[in-house]
Amino acid sequence: MTHMALEVKESLDERCNQILKNMEASLTARDRVGIQDFVLLDPYTSETAFLDNLRKRFHENLIYTYIGTLLVSVNPYKELDIYNKKQMDIYMGVNFFELPPHIYALADNVFRTMQSESNNHFILISGESGAGKTEASKKILQFYAVSCPSTELLNNVRDRLLLSNPVLEAFGNAKTLKNNNSSRFGKYMDIQFDHQGGAVGGHILSYLLEKSRVVHQNHGERNFHIFYQLVEGGEEDLLRWLGLERNCTKYNFLVQGGCAKVSSINDKSDWKTVRKALSIIEFSESETEQLFAIIASVLHLGNIKFEANGQGYATLNNNQGMHWVSKLLGIPNQVLQQGLTHRKIEAKTEEVLSPFSVDHAVYARDALAKAIYGRTFNWLVNKINESLANKDSSRKTVIGLLDIYGFEVFNLNSFEQFCINYCNEKLQQLFIQLTLKSEQEEYETEGIEWEPVPYFNNKIICELVEEKFRGIISLLDEECLRPGEATDLTFLEKMEEEIGGHPHFTTHKLADKKTRKTLERGDFRLLHYAGEVTYCVVGFLDKNNDLLYRSGKEVMQQSKNAIIRHCFPFTEPDSKRRPETVVTQFKNSLADLAEILMAKEAWYVRCIKPNEAKQPGHFDDVLVRHQVKYLGLMEHLRVRRAGFAYRRKYEIFLQRYKALCPETWPNWKGTAAEGVQCLIKHLGFKPDEYKLGRTKIFIRHPRTLFATEDAFQV
Ligand code: ATP
Ligand code: MG
Repeated sequence: MTHMALEVKESLDERCNQILKNMEASLTARDRVGIQDFVLLDPYTSETAFLDNLRKRFHENLIYTYIGTLLVSVNPYKELDIYNKKQMDIYMGVNFFELPPHIYALADNVFRTMQSESNNHFILISGESGAGKTEASKKILQFYAVSCPSTELLNNVRDRLLLSNPVLEAFGNAKTLKNNNSSRFGKYMDIQFDHQGGAVGGHILSYLLEKSRVVHQNHGERNFHIFYQLVEGGEEDLLRWLGLERNCTKYNFLVQGGCAKVSSINDKSDWKTVRKALSIIEFSESETEQLFAIIASVLHLGNIKFEANGQGYATLNNNQGMHWVSKLLGIPNQVLQQGLTHRKIEAKTEEVLSPFSVDHAVYARDALAKAIYGRTFNWLVNKINESLANKDSSRKTVIGLLDIYGFEVFNLNSFEQFCINYCNEKLQQLFIQLTLKSEQEEYETEGIEWEPVPYFNNKIICELVEEKFRGIISLLDEECLRPGEATDLTFLEKMEEEIGGHPHFTTHKLADKKTRKTLERGDFRLLHYAGEVTYCVVGFLDKNNDLLYRSGKEVMQQSKNAIIRHCFPFTEPDSKRRPETVVTQFKNSLADLAEILMAKEAWYVRCIKPNEAKQPGHFDDVLVRHQVKYLGLMEHLRVRRAGFAYRRKYEIFLQRYKALCPETWPNWKGTAAEGVQCLIKHLGFKPDEYKLGRTKIFIRHPRTLFATEDAFQV
């Protein structure tokens, strides 16, 4: 053996011994703190043992546990002293399994893999509402912000990346019964890195904001945070200019949930953060003013009351709310008044104005408020993207962070829950495809001996929702095409006819006697991967159509507020051409997202909610067991345990490590597969640590690879 090879081998041995020692130490401590990687669990097939381990660790404030490279995280519902610069330093540049599990370890590992392999990655963070996805995504972003190389220019980008969060959360998050800071939109964020690993830019894609919340909140829930922040925290002059009182209870759009104040939320200080963030993301003073004018206008719109005239039509008499909207959005009073009380209809050759009834006017007003808010939100995301854009066109690699609204079940579930839960269904499908399915298929195609692990494939539910012609989305869209004839109930009947026999679908009419008692006549129930959800069909057609009267649109086009004018352009497609329905747009954007993700290497954080009461220290066995089940963690563990954590094409593996062996360095004459065999023989890989497939080498445990990687660095 050459001198260099000997040195490498010694260093490798030493490294392996160290890792083994660490693992032994962790095994001795197991009684108290459990095991830090479920792959080492014995027996690894027992759900009870899995749960015991998770519980043990949770009570020791050890919220993170690995299944190989997948990170399981249990929401502690209290601040832990594990997210700071000191901890980041500890995890920076250290191999995954050498330190206790941490979200920083995952972030660091993804970053280093991206650096060494020059490819793109994404981290899929999943779990139900309140499980800790958004917190996890923020921790990852903070880690990159602190750990990446810095220069003045890069610091600038870093600050913007970080501060985009409080702004988007203010406009897109709200208190729900499940979570006081629940994401009401889906977010995918690319962080772009240059060759030196500096974070040089970012890009955000947002998905379906739950804008019905602007005009309606269920009991115990709030509107989006920004409204309360403005009213509670807004400076005196600003409020005066906006015509707002410092009293949330004065605004119809803020009081329906009956909980304008929440003890864990400090709207005043959050307001300050948002204000500061807006200036750093380069919002000009005038843009900020226009933005607040819009927020205030939505509140004033909510306070507009219509009265019936002699013929029962809606009228507005000297209405305060309307005056403020008119002033703030720069729309003449008369124009606004007419737009709110009439709709335009096209008669044969001319347009005529048809007056609204009071109910109709309220409906049109709410539709306008939702449209204003929803479009402003999209404008905001675009504006943030402009500020994060990297102007340099040289090749970059990216790490994507996916943080979407989690699966949710309330007492009353509507169109919004249907969309959110469908989205989670799709993400679960992606997880299954990328891990359980493709992993096992790959062993087969590579000729690796393999005992298949059975798993529940939720494809059947995805198809029930999105299949062409007969899926729920198609049926809903079909009913939306029959205005005047179709109703929410005809939609229900259509589903009963078309998919009545599906094992994951039932209704009052279809159910057996016992189940029928739990269903109302207007309900349908889906058996999702994460559990049963009963949806009330009322409002499905309306919300899917998302109709905004042309008169409302045209009024907005006359606004002097530049953001509003941008959001309601004159060039908007003619209303005669049917726009895509809400759910179809959502379906298409999710399909695009899946494509974006499939082109990258995947990493996973699976978040678990320990109890429904948002309490620290309380681990509800039944609730956690249910999540462990539906998240597919046991199956994932089985595949991981029996399988191989790492695989690379022979060519890539040889190219990277050939310097470690005198026979393969500098040029190997034979095939790549033979070269790899020669290389691993030289490195002393043990036979049960690896398998050689048709085109790839498979390595059972990442520690073998890390040791090789370390030797390489010597
Ligand atoms: P949703 O799907 O509703 O958006 P989510 O999974 O994004 O839910 P988060 O908002 O991340 O949930 O977490 C809910 C709350 O739980 C947080 O506001 C915070 O109070 C607490 N929490 C979550 N993760 C942590 C953590 N790692 N440390 C301390 N508290 C946490
Ligand atoms: Mg969230």
